[in-house]
Amino acid sequence: MTPTYPTEQCRSCPAQIIWTVTDRGRDMPVDAEPDPAGNVALSVNDKGQIVASVVKPHLAFGRKDLRLSHFVRCKDAAKWRRR
Ligand SMILES: [Zn+2]
Repeated sequence: MTPTYPTEQCRSCPAQIIWTVTDRGRDMPVDAEPDPAGNVALSVNDKGQIVASVVKPHLAFGRKDLRLSHFVRCKDAAKWRRR
């Protein structure tokens, strides 16, 4: 069973996103829907945070549960990065 994660609309575009934290503790939005080109696996840690881990390409092949960082698609990503 695929876990469901809370989604919300991006502040800059109509996309639905999931807020995650990276393994370095930074906030990162990812696209809510899995994508065949995705390389981000989500999991929930013992603090209840949704953690995004980047999966190496040879391990991502054939997986259908991986998502893309929303920074890839969002037109305002450059602005977000600067914050
Ligand atoms: Zn966006």
